[in-house]
Amino acid sequence: MDVADRLLPAIAGEDFARLRGVLARLALAPPQTLLLEGGDETARQELARYWACACNCPQALAAAARGEPAAPCLACPVCAQIAAGEHLDVLAFDGRIGNREDEENPGPVMAFNMRRARELKSRLRDAPHGPGRRVVLLMGLSPARDEAANALLKALEEPSAHTVFVLLAAQREQLLPTLVSRSFCLTLPWSETATPDAGLDAWEAALADFLHTGRGFLEKAAARGGLDAPQAARLLLSCQRALVHVLAGGASTGAPGPLADALAPLLAAGGKASPVHRAALCGRWLDEAQEMLRYGVAPARVLEGFASRLFVLLRGEAAA
Ligand SMILES: [Zn+2]
Repeated sequence: MDVADRLLPAIAGEDFARLRGVLARLALAPPQTLLLEGGDETARQELARYWACACNCPQALAAAARGEPAAPCLACPVCAQIAAGEHLDVLAFDGRIGNREDEENPGPVMAFNMRRARELKSRLRDAPHGPGRRVVLLMGLSPARDEAANALLKALEEPSAHTVFVLLAAQREQLLPTLVSRSFCLTLPWSETATPDAGLDAWEAALADFLHTGRGFLEKAAARGGLDAPQAARLLLSCQRALVHVLAGGASTGAPGPLADALAPLLAAGGKASPVHRAALCGRWLDEAQEMLRYGVAPARVLEGFASRLFVLLRGEAAA
């Protein structure tokens, strides 16, 4: 790993080389709003900061002025400040941070609430401090708490010469369609574990079987020594991955696996709800389940609720 790779280690690998190249080229004419989905939380944040570097690093700006891809150096003070969350023109907000937490423990990532959204809107009228662009990172948004995001829609609608936005989400279905429709969407590669996880495979198979038959999984998860929190988090990630696979028309790389098979009927034609609506529901339930896990709800409880709702949705549509 060289010096540059150490600044943003989660996106240093070959997996991300293509996306870094895409961003360096996009920076020649930056889209007003970029949406980064897929991967894991760390990779999304680092890729967003890479994008901020591409929009502000002196080396990248010089390359862009020559009409060449704006690859940031990841070694200069500007890049270092951006990676550390200390650059004045790079602002990060997270809808999952509570107002109280924000006041007691202010950090480089701020809470995203109505007050912040209003402050940000008035700040957008001023020019950035440096010669590059102001970059606003927004994460932890969801249809359930979109008030502040709605307040920002106006700002996203009005093209600004010196501000660009980055939305970060596990899946685009977690965001308001109005936000997604005005974004340039990029999907990150999923992080692969070096060794196949036999334990996870078994849980995936059990959940997929439950979604077909309605049997087995709930008892297995609730049993003593059953599903623990890290396994539950990984299982939910597997579900997300399967959902993205299905949403990509099965075209994304990698073996589909039992969960993708089980979720495929979500996008089948017919049924009461539109395929996109069904997929959006599944995405929202995944978001809620992950949030419950973070709040310390028992893993078996979380997965039971998620799996049962999904089973009813799949079965209801099959019967329609
Ligand atoms: Zn630099």
